[in-house]
Amino acid sequence: MTTSQPPLQTPVEHLDVLIVGAGISGIGAGRYLTTELPAKSFAILEARGASGGTWDLFRYPGIRSDSDLSTFGYEFKPWRDRQSIADAPKILAYLRETATENGLDERIRYHHRVLAVSWSSADARWTVDVERTDTGEQLRLTAGWVFCAGGYYRYDEGFTPVFEGRDRFRGEIVHPQFWPEDLDLTGKRVVVVGSGATAVTIVPAIAGTAAHVTMLQRTPTYVLPVPREDPIAARLRRWFGDERAHALVRRKNIAQQRAIYRFAQKHPKAARKAIRWVNTKQLPAGFDVDTHFNPPYDPWDQRLCAVPNGDLFRAIREGQADVVTDRIATFDETGIRLASGGHLDADVIVTATGLSVQAFGGVAITVDGEPVTLSDSVAYKGMMLSGVPNLAFAIGYTNSSWTLKIGLLCEHFVRLLRHMDERGLDTARPVLADPGMPTRPFLDFAAGYIQRAVAQLPRQGDRMPWLTSMDYSDDVKLLRADSVVDPELRLTSSRDRLPRPAAAVGA
Ligand SMILES: Cc1cc2nc3c(=O)[nH]c(=O)nc-3n(C[C@H](O)[C@H](O)[C@H](O)COP(=O)(O)OP(=O)(O)OC[C@H]3O[C@@H](n4cnc5c(N)ncnc54)[C@H](O)[C@@H]3O)c2cc1C
Repeated sequence: MTTSQPPLQTPVEHLDVLIVGAGISGIGAGRYLTTELPAKSFAILEARGASGGTWDLFRYPGIRSDSDLSTFGYEFKPWRDRQSIADAPKILAYLRETATENGLDERIRYHHRVLAVSWSSADARWTVDVERTDTGEQLRLTAGWVFCAGGYYRYDEGFTPVFEGRDRFRGEIVHPQFWPEDLDLTGKRVVVVGSGATAVTIVPAIAGTAAHVTMLQRTPTYVLPVPREDPIAARLRRWFGDERAHALVRRKNIAQQRAIYRFAQKHPKAARKAIRWVNTKQLPAGFDVDTHFNPPYDPWDQRLCAVPNGDLFRAIREGQADVVTDRIATFDETGIRLASGGHLDADVIVTATGLSVQAFGGVAITVDGEPVTLSDSVAYKGMMLSGVPNLAFAIGYTNSSWTLKIGLLCEHFVRLLRHMDERGLDTARPVLADPGMPTRPFLDFAAGYIQRAVAQLPRQGDRMPWLTSMDYSDDVKLLRADSVVDPELRLTSSRDRLPRPAAAVGA
């Protein structure tokens, strides 16, 4: 009897493109590849057991977008629902429908976490180390390109500052990223710590169930009511049908977002006054708007919080919720003692204190044996890294819909790949012509979670193509209209780098 021996070397699977993450960005990238470059082999590796990323992970009450879905949704797929500011389950259904319609269900490999990618210039390919999150098995494959769509925060932990006395609290403490499915707030006194998008979503969503909700904030945020449904979009859909209406509403909303952002940047005092006026009209007479809704920074230095149909203000008007602006001295057995001396009684404390930022899905990057330190690299066109070949990443806008940028950079990515294929090139490496160029943080955004993470992110330069634009029309020019050929993007073929065969020398 003969015993069969395992092969000495199992063949390693090779893909033209490896996409990391099956959230809105990774699914979008997959769709651009299948439609624009159908001959390319690719897979989407997803660490979790489900697609959708953010829109599947978060389960807190009221979870919704704060962008309108005509711009947050894909350019290629109309958003048909009446809700313009949409609930997470609707967004998730839309993403999964996109995956199915584009044959991506078969491309997504669940429970596959990408741990590390190492580039070899000699082979012009990445070696990718993967861990199966369900079995712990370690896998290896190779890829010509890596497209990193792993989002910008950690999935396994949120951000919670150290709260003195936390252990003394006898009630329940909940972080919105890990909302317990069976949490019953009926008749409970709830304190929501935080003032960002998550806090302003949760407060009105639980206001009808809890005995009382208090939003406890250290610093106020700009909060603006927005219509949950867009009557103009509904009318355009009736007149022109879904496809045409989607394009029109998208254009309208992009223009609107840009106009508001630009106005706020140019005329911060007037913007502040206008927001204050809107807030005052929504809040009960005598409400202390200046303490609770008048931030120390200018509008849009941090992301504005949208509240659909003013639901937060309604909860305050109806006496179901209130806002306290103060500092936490300590948690105690029955709630939170404030620096001002007051006390908030609580049965449940929700720590809506933010995300723990993580760039590039935590993937370790090595180029020809040298580890890449993200903070030493400079972002090229906001989508590649200086000195790092064949790696693109999806980081979207922080001042408007994230995805508006992702769509444009996917277009640029497929154009670049097509250009290289047509010329037999296999390596694209951004190289700084001026290594002394001054640099600054990749994201100029004052939000706490970005500031905490600046050192983990790449940097940007002071000139194109090293600037990371946050402006849609600048990016339309750079990423959609301009050529992919650029003196600071070195396009080569590994064949040209091979030593020439002896017979050919001197031929
Ligand atoms: C509650 C909430 C609401 C938001 N609302 C808006 C909004 O209204 N408008 C807006 O513009 N932005 C919003 N954002 C920001 C939002 O996260 C992005 O707009 C968008 O959803 C990000 O999509 P993404 O696909 O890039 O990343 P994610 O949604 O984070 O998806 C990343 C995926 O990659 C996977 N992954 C990560 N690392 C690895 C790895 N190493 N290997 C394999 N898989 C990996 C993750 O498991 C995940 O599935 C919101 C964020 C949050 C948290």
